Amino acid sequence: KPVCIIAIGMAGSGKSTFVQRINAHLHARIPPAPPYVLNLDPAVTNVPFEANIDIRDTVDYHEVMKQYNLGPNGAILTALNLFTTKFDQVLDLVEKRAESVDYVIVDTPGQIEIFTWSASGAIITDAVASSLPTVIAYIVDTPRATAPATFMSNMLYACSILYKTKLPFIVVFNKIDAQPHDFALNWMQDFETFQEALATHRSTTDDEGAPTYMNSLMNSMSLVLDEFYKHLKSVGVSSVTGDGVSEFFEAVEASREEYEKEYLPELARMR
Ligand code: GDP
Repeated sequence: KPVCIIAIGMAGSGKSTFVQRINAHLHARIPPAPPYVLNLDPAVTNVPFEANIDIRDTVDYHEVMKQYNLGPNGAILTALNLFTTKFDQVLDLVEKRAESVDYVIVDTPGQIEIFTWSASGAIITDAVASSLPTVIAYIVDTPRATAPATFMSNMLYACSILYKTKLPFIVVFNKIDAQPHDFALNWMQDFETFQEALATHRSTTDDEGAPTYMNSLMNSMSLVLDEFYKHLKSVGVSSVTGDGVSEFFEAVEASREEYEKEYLPELARMR
C-alpha cells in the first residue's frame, strides 16, 4: 500500500516548493516512483507539478466568490466544502491507483487554518487515514522560527494538529540552505537549552525579583512541548537544493510502521 503524505504549513513556509521538490525527487528515483498527487488548494494560480486530482477541476473558486458573495477565505473554505461532498469519489480513484503507486501526496490550501480548523479538513484527513497509511508533514519556515517565542508558537500549532489528527507527524524544517535547523534540534532535545534561550530574550523576573507571568507560562509550555517532541520526527530540508529530502523519505517509511502499530489499532477501538 502507498503512504499518503499530507503537507500542511503556514503561508510562506514553502509548502508548495516542498511538494514540488518531493514530487520531483520521486520522479527522479531509480526506478522512478511518480506519486499520485491531490491538490486541495482552490486558489493556487500555477501548480508547478501536474496534480492527478485537482480541486480546481471541480470547483471554480472565483465563481464561488461571485455566486455566494464571499471574500477569498470564505470562498476557499466553501470550495473545499463543496469538494468534500464528493470526496468518496476521490477516494475511489485513489484506491484504484493504490496498487501502482508508492506515495500519495496531498497539498492543502495555502491558508493553514482553512484545512486544520474546518470540518472538511477533518473529514478529508479521516477519510484518507482510514484508507491508507497516512503521515502529516508539517512545514516550518526555519529562518522565521529562530526567536524562541515564535518557535514555541509554531510548535504549539503543530501540537494542536497532532492532537486533532493523532497521525504520525513529521516536522519539516524547511529552507535549511538559508538557516540551518540545528538550533531547533537542540531546543527540542533539551528543554533547558530552550528555557535558557527564552531567558536571554526577555527579562525573566519582575521588579521584585519574582518570575514574570510570561516567563512562568513559557516555562510550563516548554514542558508540554517536551512531551510533544517525543511523539514526532523532525527533519531539515531545503526545498530549493533538495538537501535532506532522502531523510524526509526515511522518516515517512518509519511513519508507515508507526501508523500500523499505533493509529490503526486506535482506529479499530474507536469504531
Ligand atoms: P507556501 O506559501 O507555503 O506554499 O510557500 P512557497 O512554496 O510559495 O514559498 C514561499 C517562499 O519561500 C518563496 O519565495 C520560495 O522561493 C521560498 N522557499 C521555499 N522553500 C525554500 C527553501 O528551501 N529555501 C529557501 N531559501 N527559500 C525557499
